[in-house]
Amino acid sequence: MTTPVTSDQTAPAPSYPMDAPASQALFERAQQVIPGGVNSPVRAFRAVGGTPRFVASAQGPWLTDADGRRYVDLICSWGPMILGHAHPDVLAAVTDAATRGFSFGTPSENEVALAEEIVSRVDPVEEVRLVNSGTEATMTAIRLARGATNRSVVVKFAGCYHGHVDALLAAAGSGIATFGLPDSAGVPASAAAETIVLPYNDVAALEAAFAARGDEIACVITEASPGNMGVVPPLPGFTEALRRVTRAHGALLISDEVMTGFRCSRSGWYGLEGPYDGGAPDLFTFGKVMGGGFPAAAFGGRRDLMALLSPTGPVYQAGTLSGNPVATAAGLATLRGCTDEVYARLDVVSQAIAGGASDALAAAGVPHRVQWAGSMFSVFFRDAPVTSYDDAKAQDTEAFRAFFHAMLSRGVHLPPSAYEAWFVSASHDDAAVEHVLAALPEAARAAAAVSGS
Ligand SMILES: *Cc1c(COP(=O)(O)O)cnc(C)c1O
Repeated sequence: MTTPVTSDQTAPAPSYPMDAPASQALFERAQQVIPGGVNSPVRAFRAVGGTPRFVASAQGPWLTDADGRRYVDLICSWGPMILGHAHPDVLAAVTDAATRGFSFGTPSENEVALAEEIVSRVDPVEEVRLVNSGTEATMTAIRLARGATNRSVVVKFAGCYHGHVDALLAAAGSGIATFGLPDSAGVPASAAAETIVLPYNDVAALEAAFAARGDEIACVITEASPGNMGVVPPLPGFTEALRRVTRAHGALLISDEVMTGFRCSRSGWYGLEGPYDGGAPDLFTFGKVMGGGFPAAAFGGRRDLMALLSPTGPVYQAGTLSGNPVATAAGLATLRGCTDEVYARLDVVSQAIAGGASDALAAAGVPHRVQWAGSMFSVFFRDAPVTSYDDAKAQDTEAFRAFFHAMLSRGVHLPPSAYEAWFVSASHDDAAVEHVLAALPEAARAAAAVSGS
């Protein structure tokens, strides 16, 4: 234990009933006024079936739903809650900021402090601009790359998710993977035509695309280490190849660290894999952890590129709530709380949970594979290496579905899709970890019962 937690240690009931009446009632009410009853598609449980749990409160590693049931949280808001829910230091910072006003529409000091914190952690990032979501960060990074190069084509990789930006929705992972949609309706053909989608980890495909259209390509955008098709780290040399090929053709390289930033290490994936011999990516995008659970995200990079942004340059970008004083206070307190002890605890917790899951699935005879990016991991329900989206799609999603519900009924809330990383926090204490380990054997047997069907 490196981080104190205040969650009470009473063990939850060994198994909850499959139905969740209070969540069901809320879900029905929600569906009258919110499309599909949710504000982000993966929350609807479509990939696993059943009723999404409406969470009433959360503390440390625990979620409590509307029926009063407790779950060890392995979503952690898809990454931001790296210190655990309602961490006292973050709560104090948020409360203190809120008592001094919610939003000013003027510059304020917290924005500067958060920008300084990010710049101090990721060497190639000299300046950042704060925005409200990862989507906004990647959207603007693309606009900046197009403005800087006077070119329009964007290269992305299949299975990489960069938010719901029109040009980036082709072959995206995450919720899109779950729904098996090749694309989204409402994205004009003209936007898709400006996007080249390549298989991840495939240097030959990259070189071929640049050989054919290199002088039209503004940028390559990649997840620093993909986590939205499950965790599929770059093969050795892949990131360097991206740098070499983009540079040779005068295109920019955007490293999307919205998920990996400040999670894989204090400097994100860059801190693990960089610095690169051939040079750093030109632009980076951040979100999730740096907002501490509030809407805050950022993009940044070299000073000469960032100077092209409004008001100093011709590339327009703005935001009524950007750099919000409460959100930046939460983000700053979260980043400052991400100490070496926190990263050490994340390692311990993820090793224990991934190891336990792998042991239980092996004992039950379920083909599976755990993949890592630092302490970020996911469990694929297939036993061959996953280096691309096609590999990821070859997994047994029926086995995952049975596994997911068996875990849920034993008080462990996994991400409701086989294509997502499992997120832990430093507040996952030994009691929470043991609760997960205790649930695994029966869940693995439930997966085995449908495996290969
Ligand atoms: C979550 C995510 C985004 C989108 O961020 P939002 O805040 O949901 O808009 C973009 N890129 C990556 C790699 C992500 O994981």
